[in-house]
Amino acid sequence: MFNGTSTFIGNHFEMGRFSRDYMSLKDLWDCAMQKVLGMEVLVGDKFTQEVPIPWSDEVREIREDAGLMDVLSEFEQRNVKRIHFNEVVDISSEADKDKERDQPNRGIAFKLGGDGRIKLEVGQLFKDSSHFKEIILDYSIQEGFKLKRIMNERSRITSGCEVKGCPWRVHGSPTYDRVTYMLKTFTDNHNCLAVPKNRDVTSVWLGKIFETFIKENPYTNIKVLGAIILRQCEVIVPNHTLYRAKKYALKIREEDHKQSYNKLYRYGHIILERNPGSCVKLSTIRFKIDYLRELYWPAARSSNKTAFLKVMDDIKKTSTNAHEYLTRISLENWAVHA
Ligand SMILES: [Zn+2]
Repeated sequence: MFNGTSTFIGNHFEMGRFSRDYMSLKDLWDCAMQKVLGMEVLVGDKFTQEVPIPWSDEVREIREDAGLMDVLSEFEQRNVKRIHFNEVVDISSEADKDKERDQPNRGIAFKLGGDGRIKLEVGQLFKDSSHFKEIILDYSIQEGFKLKRIMNERSRITSGCEVKGCPWRVHGSPTYDRVTYMLKTFTDNHNCLAVPKNRDVTSVWLGKIFETFIKENPYTNIKVLGAIILRQCEVIVPNHTLYRAKKYALKIREEDHKQSYNKLYRYGHIILERNPGSCVKLSTIRFKIDYLRELYWPAARSSNKTAFLKVMDDIKKTSTNAHEYLTRISLENWAVHA
């Protein structure tokens, strides 16, 4: 058994006793969220957990449960019962530190299509790895499937479709200047149903909701933005989501409004711009939806009323709160059939 302590958004707390076999990174973070915020919040997979090793100067970086098991085993072997977990580190913004850019002399610079849509082609050039990743992510949102990161290194990025066995792949790597990214191979073929269930859409919502604030305060640190969202929405948002939300909001132009609305409609979400007070509810429903999404998406996408009502009935069986919430919001805001 271990006696754990943890630091989470600046709070130190006792985790209590736990055994090696009953601890995962998700448990760890859930526990921290519960203790510090009194709530369960979704933590994405782009974080690492650091553990100081008491018998050396090392701080071990843990990215997956296997790594956590290894560290706990080492502690056990040395009979060290106390373990401290440092603040969770957001690794998704690491790649953004490198802002040096160079002009490439081959390939075609990536550009959005005239209709504002993303079209991927072999030979397209991106400013850097972050830009490449961002466009691939936006593309997956546009197309309505969830990305799986297969390889995510500065020197090569490969993404696939999350659905097991689906052959969709995109691969990029740096060009001669080692910064500019080029789309090298592209298998544009989904054999899956590519059901939209992209969690990353959250940043688009937040970007919309806080657009005015972000535009008036473009240099606001994302931690400040996070604190404001925490206060107004009572939800903690991971840094990488805040970062994308900010980026998104700063990019919204007047003529984009209509289009971004369409994007939101398409994903069956609620437009909150005129109603920031419902942010709290949105956050709540959002996290519920992660459990309900197998039901929620069919509801949002049902093209006729009978199918829609049936799915709503299933939602009611699963969560009366979610059902009640969904019936209270105006249907045309999130359901395709309306
Ligand atoms: Zn697919």
